[in-house]
Amino acid sequence: MREINDNYRHKGLRKKLIEEIRSKGISDDRVLEAMERVPRHLFMDSSFVKFAYRDQAFPIGCDQTISQPYTVAFQTELLDVKRHDKVLEVGTGSGYQAAVLLEMGAKVYTIERQRELYLKAQTLLPGIGYKPYFFYGDGYAGLPSYSPFDRIIVTAGASEIPEKLLRQLRVGGKMVIPVGDSSSQVMTLIERVSEEDYEKSGHGYFVFVPLLKGKSF
Ligand code: SAH
Repeated sequence: MREINDNYRHKGLRKKLIEEIRSKGISDDRVLEAMERVPRHLFMDSSFVKFAYRDQAFPIGCDQTISQPYTVAFQTELLDVKRHDKVLEVGTGSGYQAAVLLEMGAKVYTIERQRELYLKAQTLLPGIGYKPYFFYGDGYAGLPSYSPFDRIIVTAGASEIPEKLLRQLRVGGKMVIPVGDSSSQVMTLIERVSEEDYEKSGHGYFVFVPLLKGKSF
């Protein structure tokens, strides 16, 4: 088990980061408080600790990134997670977003297509007290046998909204997914209002690594 090194310096830097995110327009205290509790530096290589509490994305290996804290906050706020919600996350990456959702009281199912990242998160998270259900596979297909989900969050940029994910949302459920081309994506909120009807709204532009089809070996 990894030593949990989360000292006063880290906590101080985190508090400042949260204030910065609040000043950029995030107002949901449940999101901000959850992020204040997650030791983001433990999700990055130890030699990069000084970058952990800057409001920027950072490489985590395999050509992937841990999302910018503001982006995590924005997406989580839009997702509107309630305690005990069953949440599907597509794109485990470092596991940071999953930890934030767990801190908000959600039950988290997270899928990653890069085997190395899947294995790394599966070791790291339980070691620091976070226990989502981990899956190695293609998030495009979702997890039909565990559906329906109250919430679905996609943390990679999709060229289209995956039909299979829409079907795995419960009626009344919400999905947040960045949709666009490789240069930028619209943060899209989809609410399933009935068995057949979905309401869609756009919430500004962001840049994510691409949502890719299939698993990687
Ligand atoms: N939520 C992550 C962000 C990771 S970046 C975090 O908090 O760190 C997006 C991740 O999505 C990458 O790790 C990438 O490998 C993964 N990904 C891309 N396409 C995918 C797919 N089809 N299924 C599952 N994961 C995918």
